[in-house]
Amino acid sequence: MKADAIVVGAGPAGSTCAIELAKNGAHVILLEKSAIGRYKPCAGGLLGANEEEFGKLPNSVRQQSINQVVIGTKDRIGKMNPIHDGEKFGTLVYRTEYDRYLAESAQSAGAELYTETEAISANRFNDRIEVETISKNGEKNTFLSNLLVIATGLSSSKIQRSLGVEYPRETVNCVQAEFTIADSIIEERFGGGDIEIYWDAKGIASHGYAWIFTKPGGLTVGVLDYFIKVERLKKIIKKHPAISPRLQGAQPLLIEKRHYWAASIPDRISEYTYYPRTLVIGDAAGFVDRMNYEGIYYARKSGKIAAEVILKAISRKNFSAAYLGRYEKRWNREIYLPYLLDSRFTHHFYYHSSYLDEFAKAVVDVLNDETVIKKLYQEARKNKEIKYLYKSEIFQLEMVKKLQETYDKETFNDMYKHFIHENPV
Ligand SMILES: Cc1cc2nc3c(=O)[nH]c(=O)nc-3n(C[C@H](O)[C@H](O)[C@H](O)COP(=O)(O)OP(=O)(O)OC[C@H]3O[C@@H](n4cnc5c(N)ncnc54)[C@H](O)[C@@H]3O)c2cc1C
Repeated sequence: MKADAIVVGAGPAGSTCAIELAKNGAHVILLEKSAIGRYKPCAGGLLGANEEEFGKLPNSVRQQSINQVVIGTKDRIGKMNPIHDGEKFGTLVYRTEYDRYLAESAQSAGAELYTETEAISANRFNDRIEVETISKNGEKNTFLSNLLVIATGLSSSKIQRSLGVEYPRETVNCVQAEFTIADSIIEERFGGGDIEIYWDAKGIASHGYAWIFTKPGGLTVGVLDYFIKVERLKKIIKKHPAISPRLQGAQPLLIEKRHYWAASIPDRISEYTYYPRTLVIGDAAGFVDRMNYEGIYYARKSGKIAAEVILKAISRKNFSAAYLGRYEKRWNREIYLPYLLDSRFTHHFYYHSSYLDEFAKAVVDVLNDETVIKKLYQEARKNKEIKYLYKSEIFQLEMVKKLQETYDKETFNDMYKHFIHENPV
């Protein structure tokens, strides 16, 4: 029997798309190559936009609130609180439970979920899409549908290659490790729950950062850069002057007998995200913030937009690329312009200017300047547009002032060029 849509990949993008389709009455098949509940290397930080758009998560999935954000350099940290009293920056989750919750929600909404079922190729015909699968025990199957949604993240490109669909080739690499630690230390050292980002071009990464994210009784520690090996994270954990002391008392947590896990994140949005009978969503389409490499919100949002476009396509029986192009118009308006465009500029001045350490120091200088920070919070409280202080224009203006105070005119002018770059990479 031909389904309305086959969604390949039950990560945040695919499951969200399947939830929206199924709850609106579409016949959806959701294919996932892994078993549900498999560990996925991810820091699990869900910033505020997630809850605003998709609602509160059940307590069994929410691990902890994000009470503060810490920005660190080689030798100093700055702390940031939410703009409004009583507000939180967001929520911390483990991806194992989070992905399970989303996949099961899709199933409860009516999607047919097939786990340990890998989509290995797809064919597009005038009247249908056919997806070939292989299950863990070697059983082959063919699923038919009107539409295909590719939500495979970066872990495989088989489907894309079989259809001639673009696949993100520009990526950054990450290495991550989990630790256990006493809750009393999280309370005392990490303000009861925070996310910490450390910039240090030589000691950590010139095109990325290291992070410590807290969970109840645990810490997720990782590093991202263009090219990275496990040894880099090991060295940071052991020797980095800012990070190593934060990890005192933490014990390695082995998952599937491994401590260090590697994974990639896309570093550019794909040129083409819609084709006849086919849409590409989430990491598979390259939707991430290129400053902090957060991708879960954009994965879910693109999944939701894709579902809304598909529901209309189903009612009009129009599965052409021309019709599905509405998806691109919407993600451009609802994802790229309000969020990801700005991250191209910040990406440029942090990671492509050769002034990463100077900019990071300026951020920490602003955060530690009590008079300036008090003024910024007052301004931010009046401006509803500002969600995150460190990403706001008023914050960046103060950074520029700190740079101007600290460096000679020639150096400052050279730095400033990167702030106002017209054509960021
Ligand atoms: C180390 C690390 C830390 C991160 N930390 C954060 C963070 O704190 N906050 C944040 O917002 N983002 C974070 N990200 C980014 C975030 O993980 C991704 O943006 C997000 O997972 C994208 O969701 P997705 O559904 O598009 O892809 P994925 O989560 O990768 O899901 C794709 C799914 O498709 C399945 N699949 C792949 N191929 C096939 C196939 N052929 N057949 C069937 N199934 C298939 C995979 O098994 C997988 O379950 C991090 C990424 C990394 C690597």
